[in-house]
Amino acid sequence: MGPLTETLTLKLVNPNTHKERKLRETRDEYQRALHGAFIQDCDTQSQANDVVVDYDLSGYAKNALKQYVPNLLDDDTYGAEELREGNHPVRFTNEGPTLDHKPQNAIEWYVKIPHYEDYHLWLPAQPKSNQREWLEALYHGDAEMGECQLIERDGEWYFHVSATMSVEQASSVSVEEQTPIGVDIGEVALATVCHRAECGSPANPTLWSSEGREVRRLRETYFSAVKRLQERESERLAEEYGDELWARIDDILHTVSRGIVEYAQQVDNPILVIEDLTHIRENMDYGQFMNRRLHGWAFAKLHAQITYKAKEHGIPVEIVDPAYTSKECHACGEHGYRLQQAVFKCSNAECWVGEYQADLNAALNLINRYYASCESHVQTDSEFSSNEKEVAVT
Ligand SMILES: [Zn+2]
Repeated sequence: MGPLTETLTLKLVNPNTHKERKLRETRDEYQRALHGAFIQDCDTQSQANDVVVDYDLSGYAKNALKQYVPNLLDDDTYGAEELREGNHPVRFTNEGPTLDHKPQNAIEWYVKIPHYEDYHLWLPAQPKSNQREWLEALYHGDAEMGECQLIERDGEWYFHVSATMSVEQASSVSVEEQTPIGVDIGEVALATVCHRAECGSPANPTLWSSEGREVRRLRETYFSAVKRLQERESERLAEEYGDELWARIDDILHTVSRGIVEYAQQVDNPILVIEDLTHIRENMDYGQFMNRRLHGWAFAKLHAQITYKAKEHGIPVEIVDPAYTSKECHACGEHGYRLQQAVFKCSNAECWVGEYQADLNAALNLINRYYASCESHVQTDSEFSSNEKEVAVT
């Protein structure tokens, strides 16, 4: 177990004139306070406190500044002129800023930035796509927020959040010793997970189907309710209603992602094999734009949650290109088709597969994909076909 820390970069999206002015006021006042504390040689926190107390800043910025100035004075290379001209980030202790998530909005994430005492700004914020797992962990309370910084760069505003999560070291074993676990994220079953037993047969296939149904039901409830509320011009009610409903969906996703990691903990040297996220988005079912986007949101969330929870428990995650994993037969590699949503049919007359649970077929293909991507270990489908018989999936 050890702490892992990362600085998350959130770009503040199009702050309006009023909010941008407030950001500038905070930044300028902070620079003045920093400069004041610096030229008065405040090399202890209490000295810095005497100076910054008069500035019109939130307590979170003042506290961060008090911690920062004595450190800055230790650094001999710094001069007062440099400090005056330098574009120093505004620092905040972690009690001030808050993160919020509203997937129903075009920009999903929001940050609360302290301005003056008892006055703060909420701003929509765009995270880096590869830091989604950190945001999920922070939002769920599995990662801890540290110091935050407000920064202006080339006319754009950014909010940096330091986040720390406790992780286990992943043990490194050879590909031969690993047990890859295919994780298919889907429409009917929210996730389908299985690995191969030593004989090669699919072992312990697990599907989260009722959760998939519940997420679909909640999503449909959301759309019809919002439509009704909007017809009655109750935009505010529509938004509040959405918050509660999306929190319930989030709970379900956490149940599933936790279940997947628990599954992995039951097998020897597990490695979770998940499909590339862009593919999930492209492969999305049709429908109205919002529905499609929110659907993609649930997948992106689940993906990020699995990734960070696996990291917490020292379980490696491998992302593979899943092109055709739902259309290919896991045993012979031939293209087949879905008879119904839940049934895959192999079109190869020679193949023993015939009809197969479709999501499980996709999960097995992810395992094959993983082996194919490991140059040291090329696995052929025929290795398995002699052992493999029909798998009962409940
Ligand atoms: Zn086949």
